Amino acid sequence: AKWVYTFGDGKAEGSAGDRNLLGGKGANLAEMCALGLPVPPGFTITTDVCSWYYDNGRKYPDTLETDVKKSLSHIAAITGRNFGDTEKPLLVSVRSGARASMPGMMDTVLNLGLNDGTVEAIARETGDARFAYDSYRRFIQMYSDVVMGLDHSVFEEILEDTKANLGHEVDTALTADDWKNVIALYKAKIEEELDEPFPQDPEKQLWGAIGAVFSSWMNARAITYRRLHNIPESWGTAVSVQAMVFGNMGDRSATGVAFTRNPSTGEKKLYGEFLVNAQGEDVVAGIRTPQNITEDARIAAGSDKPSLEKIMPAAFADFCAVSERLEKHYTDMQDLEFTIENGKLWMLQTRSGKRTAKAALKIAVEMAEEGLISREEAVLRIDPASLDQLLHPTIDPGAERNIIGTGLPASPGAATGEIVFSSEDAEQLKAEGRKAILVRIETSPEDIHGMHAAEAILTTRGGMTSHAAVVARGMGKPCVSGAGSLRVDYRNETLLAMGVVLKKGDIITIDGGTGQVLKGAVPMRQPELSGDFGQIMEWADKTRRMKVRANAETPVDARTARSFGAEGIGLCRTEHMFFEGERIVAMREMILADNEKGRRAALDKLLPMQRSDFVELFEIMHGLPVTIRLLDPPLHEFLPKTEEEIAEVAAAMNVDADRLRERTDSLHETNPMLGHRGCRLAISYPEIAEMQARAIFEAAVAAAKSTGAPVEPEIMVPLVGLRAELDFVKARIDAVAADVMKEADIKINYLVGTMIELPRAAIRAHSIAEVAEFFSFGTNDLTQTTFGISRDDASSFLMSYQVKGIIEQDPFVTIDIDGVGELVRIGADKGRAARPGIKLGICGEHGGDPASIHFCEEVGLDYVSCSPFRVPIARLAAAQASA
Ligand code: PEP
Ligand code: MG
Repeated sequence: AKWVYTFGDGKAEGSAGDRNLLGGKGANLAEMCALGLPVPPGFTITTDVCSWYYDNGRKYPDTLETDVKKSLSHIAAITGRNFGDTEKPLLVSVRSGARASMPGMMDTVLNLGLNDGTVEAIARETGDARFAYDSYRRFIQMYSDVVMGLDHSVFEEILEDTKANLGHEVDTALTADDWKNVIALYKAKIEEELDEPFPQDPEKQLWGAIGAVFSSWMNARAITYRRLHNIPESWGTAVSVQAMVFGNMGDRSATGVAFTRNPSTGEKKLYGEFLVNAQGEDVVAGIRTPQNITEDARIAAGSDKPSLEKIMPAAFADFCAVSERLEKHYTDMQDLEFTIENGKLWMLQTRSGKRTAKAALKIAVEMAEEGLISREEAVLRIDPASLDQLLHPTIDPGAERNIIGTGLPASPGAATGEIVFSSEDAEQLKAEGRKAILVRIETSPEDIHGMHAAEAILTTRGGMTSHAAVVARGMGKPCVSGAGSLRVDYRNETLLAMGVVLKKGDIITIDGGTGQVLKGAVPMRQPELSGDFGQIMEWADKTRRMKVRANAETPVDARTARSFGAEGIGLCRTEHMFFEGERIVAMREMILADNEKGRRAALDKLLPMQRSDFVELFEIMHGLPVTIRLLDPPLHEFLPKTEEEIAEVAAAMNVDADRLRERTDSLHETNPMLGHRGCRLAISYPEIAEMQARAIFEAAVAAAKSTGAPVEPEIMVPLVGLRAELDFVKARIDAVAADVMKEADIKINYLVGTMIELPRAAIRAHSIAEVAEFFSFGTNDLTQTTFGISRDDASSFLMSYQVKGIIEQDPFVTIDIDGVGELVRIGADKGRAARPGIKLGICGEHGGDPASIHFCEEVGLDYVSCSPFRVPIARLAAAQASA
């Protein structure tokens, strides 16, 4: 087998297509090299080696050692440098590279190959001893941390002490001799802590770093990350080894990161940051605040630090050309890492750049308009779930802003919450149902869980590409980074802002769109969905086959749904209409009546309210289909609970409170979700279904008149398991329909159908379809009843199922294709066999989940129905599913 792939000097053994084998980093280095771009030579050890390593008790394949040796000579041939050479020593970087970028793994070791001998050679060669010894101490620090497992804080202490003794504030004030002393102290500390010296042999160093990359594939953080992102363990990581180039060789050297377009707004302008006289990790770590690459960006940011364009115009021009070329080549916005060594540009990485949803839309639309990609491709480029970000509120433009600080607008959206200073506190608050704003000097991968739990993130250090900024954008959370005028004091848990001291628990608001930090809560506004969003939606709607409806019962929800492009209502849960105001009292009267006469008296009160609700819904939906479901939930949900409530209902019914309490107790059920609910209610008390049917038909007559658009209601019977249940209820509905039509002397077209939400209904769908004119799969109950897992109690133990790898995804979020999905498939097939062309939809939560929507397309459903805010997501996902 071929374990190692080389690249360099315009040639490469692999290409961008070899991502699975070479990892994202290795594959793109090979591709850039083959394109003739300036890439330091190197080689990539494949992901197959990683798998082999774990399959064979953490050993390497026999030939790997010779392969690596050969590949080192390949670098030597190009650079004229060798490991350990005391004239021209070779130094390399060692980096991990999985198929997907994976925080939590060992990332990078730089300057590998330095030792007591080679450091002198580097000093002589560059004529810069300070640079050489600074690099050596960085290497010792990094290597001891990530390879030997010695916490970097021990080195920071030594360095801080040294600076204090010398009376220096900044690292750059230290001379070569100062660094030599620091190095001696570092080495002594390593021996003391680890009982072994710092390795001097470069090959030994290299194997140490390779081993550290492979073992980091199985460290706890990487395992957690894989689980959260569904990355299989079998993928493994590759290791890329590459000749070093130095961004810290003086004022003609620099290192930076850039995006070919703005990752926050999507604007077609090179956007990035760099540091003069620095190495890669300095930019990402956010220790020094970086400078803008372009003059435009510098001016926009109001920065007085010169841009790269200004101070290194030639390297800047080269970089612009390379970035344009890479974007065209990959036909996507690229995220680039580069180093300038003595004025010469070197590319260290390219990959598709992470971006906000807003930027993703703009970039996709503009690339399609530029002819770089097709419209269909543009639609496929947008992650439907990310649209959620655009649906986040922003600060009302008219609101008063009590600004206490400003940082970079690192991730859009606004949020209000209580200040917390640790990820643990953020999680704690979230568990208590409170909203937290995570405030940190900077964040690291250890903070991911806290960032998940927080509403928004604020850091006082670091740029647009700092950890906090990148991760927040990925999560779609508002983030302000590098708010340098604010001071965080972890020990006292305070945030010092322009003379104001804020404590843990104080309320602040973060505006990720402007970078402002505001005191207190601020009025928010819902976003507008036009422009690029509208364009992508228009293109998506052209290719979409399935219709998208909304689950809505209130006028507000129905209007929201329409504004998001819903093509009807797929589920109106009528029970939700009975909780408001006086209605609940009438509803309770109805339930608690002990005979039909009493029930009918209460229903007479409810009829006009129901009718006016339906008129409003029909008017809002203006001729679009509306599916109304008959009363479904267990009656106990409506029962009066407190003494006060009992007294109120008793008075309304003119009965004794004690008798009412008795009746309430008698309605108690042990297992209400499997109890007296759904169509069972309509069978016990047909007058309820009749009242609802009457309200629907009378409303249809009224709305048809007021809008001029014909209304064709779809009446849906819940929780049917037996065909005879549907026969019974449908007969009542038809009778009411006939009455209303006669009274109004008008013909109403309507459908009577059923939910398929019990396994028996799916299995007997051919028989049920002889009666039902449409099916709507109620995958919430269908999941509950197929698994026998209570949908209300599942989260406590399903979490541990996921952690223990028993299930990959929560089946109440993403449809269980093998089980529940199979029942949907059976139900759909049998339904169509009995009634060709039967209208089929889904109205469980899954109707708004992109993966489940793909499944619905496969089964050939006619529509999905989801909550109003998910409608845009569903439209896009449905388009992608039918592509
Ligand atoms: C369902 O069960 O999937 C459904 C849509 O109904 P509900 O959630 O109201 O039970
Ligand atoms: Mg249900």
